[in-house]
Amino acid sequence: MQALAVFPKSRELRVVDERAPRIESPTQARLRVLDVGVCGTDREICAFEYGTPPAGQDHLVIGHECLAQVVEVGSAVTAVAPGDLVVPMVRRPCSHAHCTACRAGRQDFCFTGDFRERGIGHAHGFMTEEIVEEEQYLVPLPRALRDFGVLVEPLTIAEKALIQLWHLQERLPWGCPHKPGRNHGHCRRALVLGAGPVGLLGAMALRAHDFETIVYSRETAPNPRAALLVESIGASYASSEQIPPAEIAARLGSIDLVYEASGASALSFDVMQSLGANSVFIFTGVPGRRAPVAIDTDLFMRNLVLRNQIVFGTVNAGRNAFEAAVRDLTGFAERWPQATAQLISGRHPLAKGPELLLGRPGGIKHVLAIGEAV
Ligand code: BGC
Repeated sequence: MQALAVFPKSRELRVVDERAPRIESPTQARLRVLDVGVCGTDREICAFEYGTPPAGQDHLVIGHECLAQVVEVGSAVTAVAPGDLVVPMVRRPCSHAHCTACRAGRQDFCFTGDFRERGIGHAHGFMTEEIVEEEQYLVPLPRALRDFGVLVEPLTIAEKALIQLWHLQERLPWGCPHKPGRNHGHCRRALVLGAGPVGLLGAMALRAHDFETIVYSRETAPNPRAALLVESIGASYASSEQIPPAEIAARLGSIDLVYEASGASALSFDVMQSLGANSVFIFTGVPGRRAPVAIDTDLFMRNLVLRNQIVFGTVNAGRNAFEAAVRDLTGFAERWPQATAQLISGRHPLAKGPELLLGRPGGIKHVLAIGEAV
């Protein structure tokens, strides 16, 4: 069975032959991998800046954005059956008894940092032909989402962010009065930083919740396809070249929510200064380590206090966010079929993985199309 793996010691990325996995406990399922997305985290792992092989092994099979089909189930599996489409979750809990998050099945909030992540840290990932997984980490997907299911995992980042946002903004119960037929965000303006897959999926989720949504990115004309896509979902695009961060509030209006999906820390802190009152800034990017930049800490702290602002970071994701992503993706595919399809720029064989991971393929989301659904 073929798999794409990194070898950190010898600094190699190559297709390897792995033994096909077998079900080892009655609660496991064996899955045929259909699609695996390529993302920035995978690229960092392939640049040997991130990622750790499983204990005692010299390599890590990469890939964590996955759509798979159940082939075989153990005798105690009840939630999925052969033929079902599923999305496997990424994080596995730490083993510490005192980690209440992991003990509650919320390893996305792990306190100890000793969690494992398939395809990222201490556990093999999904860029391979077959995998075995515990039933509890599988999220069922309707058959109609066959072509888009690989987008569930990157969408969970926005979903988890929104779930937390609604909790936090319960502090403003009068903030956005209920309007029949409109969703929670209907009287709020959101700025999405970054026009990559995480930003665009975030923009779609925000539009689905009726936020006025502006995608803000450095490039004057980002990927032209991305700009068209933004318009087709009823959002708008603004470039920091044309509207510098300091002019955002004056030119675009007061911002209630920033959804950062660019990994650009300096730009993010500049944008933060134009946040409105009672607003929230959500970080999702994981920037590389560059030289430090100066920030005006007095201004930052004054704004936080005097404008009741909240800044938080979020890493994906628990089952609730995966389930919300499946629901929202169903809505995207019905409401914006073309835009949803356009998020996937290319589908490639496994052997093309190294080229996609080490090069700059352009486009939005590239996918390794590994298996066929039967
Ligand atoms: C993955 C997450 C993971 C994070 C940090 C992201 O690319 O989507 O599942 O928690 O990287 O490793």
